[in-house]
Amino acid sequence: MSDGAGMDTEVSVVVVGGGFAGVACAKRLAGRDGVRVVLLDRDGFHQFQPLLYQVATAELTSQDIRFDLARIFRDKAGVEVRTADVTSVDLQAKTVTLDGGETLAADYLVLAAGAQPNFFHTPGARENAFPLYSVEDARQVRGRILTVFEDVARDPRLVEEGALNFVIVGGGPTGVETAGALAELIHDVLPGVYPTVPVGHAQVILVDLGHALLSAFSEQAGAYAAKQLHRRGVQLRLGTAVKQVDPDRVTLGDGQVIKTRLVVWGGGEKAADVAGACGLATGRGGRIDVQPDLTVPGHPRVYALGDMANIPSGDEPALPQLGSVAQQSGRWAADNILAQVGGQPPHPFHYRDKGIMAMIGTKAAIAEIGPHRHELHGRFAFLAWLGVHMELLGEIGAELKAYMAWAQEFYLRPHHRSAELLDPSRIDTPRIDWNQQGGAS
Ligand SMILES: Cc1cc2nc3c(=O)[nH]c(=O)nc-3n(C[C@H](O)[C@H](O)[C@H](O)COP(=O)(O)OP(=O)(O)OC[C@H]3O[C@@H](n4cnc5c(N)ncnc54)[C@H](O)[C@@H]3O)c2cc1C
Repeated sequence: MSDGAGMDTEVSVVVVGGGFAGVACAKRLAGRDGVRVVLLDRDGFHQFQPLLYQVATAELTSQDIRFDLARIFRDKAGVEVRTADVTSVDLQAKTVTLDGGETLAADYLVLAAGAQPNFFHTPGARENAFPLYSVEDARQVRGRILTVFEDVARDPRLVEEGALNFVIVGGGPTGVETAGALAELIHDVLPGVYPTVPVGHAQVILVDLGHALLSAFSEQAGAYAAKQLHRRGVQLRLGTAVKQVDPDRVTLGDGQVIKTRLVVWGGGEKAADVAGACGLATGRGGRIDVQPDLTVPGHPRVYALGDMANIPSGDEPALPQLGSVAQQSGRWAADNILAQVGGQPPHPFHYRDKGIMAMIGTKAAIAEIGPHRHELHGRFAFLAWLGVHMELLGEIGAELKAYMAWAQEFYLRPHHRSAELLDPSRIDTPRIDWNQQGGAS
């Protein structure tokens, strides 16, 4: 390890989490003389979350957004990838303990374990709602949609049991994108596969406690999203809480009960459990409040990044939970570690703001570009969305040609789907017990 005058012995870095932040950090450190990185991820693969709803609504296969970490790093010197679940972290000793009991020590720790759904203690939500945070979640949503259609095709009376009611919780980008794509799947794609299902009775209902969609965007952007969703037949229940989720219904704060067999939860997130396993008092969203240089206060060789951290920026208490924030913070942390190894101080993180964007449906996207939030709609917003996603995908070694081909197909033939994507038997999804009613929360 460095004595400040240069690198004498090997420096070890343990990175927890192979998401945008962890991959970017480990890639930046790869091949550096005297630096050895161990990248730990409980799944062993990177899940490209921005395209989860496309998997849920049968636009992409799960393989399209799942990237094997060992493959990403196969030609990256000095990086060892291990599939392991980190159960506790000792910041003082700079060690992590794995679920098998093994403890790894490092000179530098990088905590980048991301986020998990936050059900805000809503009764029954954890047990009965479908979150959208992992590839497996997305497969299960698709499996449920297709199983409902298969069952209704066999027994149309199930419509009276609310089989064709689909509820989305959350009016942020995840809820809006999922609602738009789901409405298009139901009305434009599935009638070709299940011609006897009366899709005229289908309802997609988006519920949010807030009074506007896309609250991080401008008021006009929220109004544009609402108009586009209305156009696709999505009903909005804004200013309304979800009070309870049961296997066959959802109860709203105003007392309304909606019979349904699919509640997609896009209602919020909190930091991964690792944040709470560090022995620190955590901040907003259960995240770790980091210093401007991304280190954990009092621990100059421990970094927390991406969705696990509240990263201060200018007057803002924290940057948003975005792929580009995570990716850039990963690269920055690596540069700061290299600076520290060389005896230099770490530098405050500077975020290059790409803007925020959401895809509401085919040919209906919204983007607010750059720090001044220049607003784009439609085709231009779609192009901006493509550009930002290409950069994120490029870093994790995705085949960009294949992604461009998908984007072109999506734009020109939005209602085309391969048979594989619409085959529920390919998804190991439980059958629906139509006799199960209420109270199983
Ligand atoms: C549905 C959805 C849509 C989104 N769309 C967009 C979008 O369009 N644009 C955008 O910029 N952002 C989007 N985001 C946000 C973006 O995906 C996140 O901000 C980003 O993934 C955060 O990166 P990260 O590296 O911090 O965490 P993650 O990407 O979540 O990676 C964390 C990794 O840590 C691993 N891990 C967790 N716990 C442990 C443990 N105990 N031990 C070992 N490994 C562990 C996980 O398996 C995971 O691989 C979206 C998020 C969601 C959920």
